[in-house]
Amino acid sequence: MTKKIAVLAGDGIGPEIVAEAVKVLQALKKDGLDIELEYGLIGGAAYDETGTPLPDETVAMSKSADAILLGAVGGYKWESLDISVRPEKGLLGIRSQLNLFANLRPAILYPQLADASTLKSEVVAGLDLMIVRELTGGIYFGQPRGVRTLDNGEKEGFNTLVYRESEIRRIGKVAFDIAQKRQGRLCSVDKANVLECTELWRETMTELASDYEDVELSHMYVDNAAMQLVRAPKQFDVMVTTNMFGDILSDCASMLTGSIGMLPSASLDEDGKGMYEPIHGSAPDIAGKNSANPLATILSASMMLRYTLDEPALADRVENAVSKVLDQGLRTADIYSEGMTKVGTSEMGDAVVAAL
Ligand code: NAD
Repeated sequence: MTKKIAVLAGDGIGPEIVAEAVKVLQALKKDGLDIELEYGLIGGAAYDETGTPLPDETVAMSKSADAILLGAVGGYKWESLDISVRPEKGLLGIRSQLNLFANLRPAILYPQLADASTLKSEVVAGLDLMIVRELTGGIYFGQPRGVRTLDNGEKEGFNTLVYRESEIRRIGKVAFDIAQKRQGRLCSVDKANVLECTELWRETMTELASDYEDVELSHMYVDNAAMQLVRAPKQFDVMVTTNMFGDILSDCASMLTGSIGMLPSASLDEDGKGMYEPIHGSAPDIAGKNSANPLATILSASMMLRYTLDEPALADRVENAVSKVLDQGLRTADIYSEGMTKVGTSEMGDAVVAAL
């Protein structure tokens, strides 16, 4: 049966990088991939056209689709808007409307890019880490929140970190399941020494562990985890953590691999339906210059093939094609090093299609 893919390019480099991932998916259609693409608005582009960063039509299209391919949202142009209609609200909104609570962020260092990392290659070579981040709860969504004026006239900003046991358990299960299919090691990251909410997180993860005897569970405070990620990242197999800690740690992990432009992500609901997007933002500083790296978005399409479309062989082909273009020495500016061939966004996409 034909699978429907909602394509939401968004802002900044979003349309450029999504176009390259679409090229790859279209190329696979010739080899039997049965998909239909529909296009929708999100972020600043949606605000400009409809007055909201997340139009109802986009939500409806995404709900009826089997998977969503997203570029990125945001940019200087919309920074002065009220927070309720800023592009980022569109992204947070769609994640929560679709109940995409599990964010999978792999950090894999392609051997060809070992020199692109700021860390010594012996520290990062062979890195293959999966960060599982809770995406629809925690401090980014907790109520009450806001900025209030105190009696003395001073302003006070406040947010709330809140997790129910059931929310912790469902993200924990996703992480344990993934660890089972990998090296069987799961590190749960919290700040249980200071935050009661994450003390509950730790207790709940420990309880879950009894259902997964083949997975070795460890716990780590987030400050130590940040340090360990740059000290000895290969000690980790799978990490699971809260929304905000995962946001920060996964960006840190991304730099271990040399470029934020290489890393895909998947956000899944309870039935495996997913939204697939690069982990980076809309990079307004390089938008429209045909210089963004499209590989993170192409690899996001590959995760879509693997996790939602159940086409692991096609996912392997895309990943092998990416590896092949790196072998050929093709590099966008963000991963360029001397002796390599510098290419633009569309040339990189074309090269991946050719390598398929
Ligand atoms: P960013 O990820 O957009 O950019 C950080 C740096 O990485 C920039 O120097 C950028 O040029 C570079 N970069 C990012 N993606 C790249 C790519 N594919 N190829 C080459 N270089 C790349 O983060 P930022 O600058 O903090 O945020 C810019 C805008 O993006 C903001 O409006 C922010 O809110 C938004 N944002 C959106 C998302 C999302 O849509 N998922 C995520 C993060 C930030």
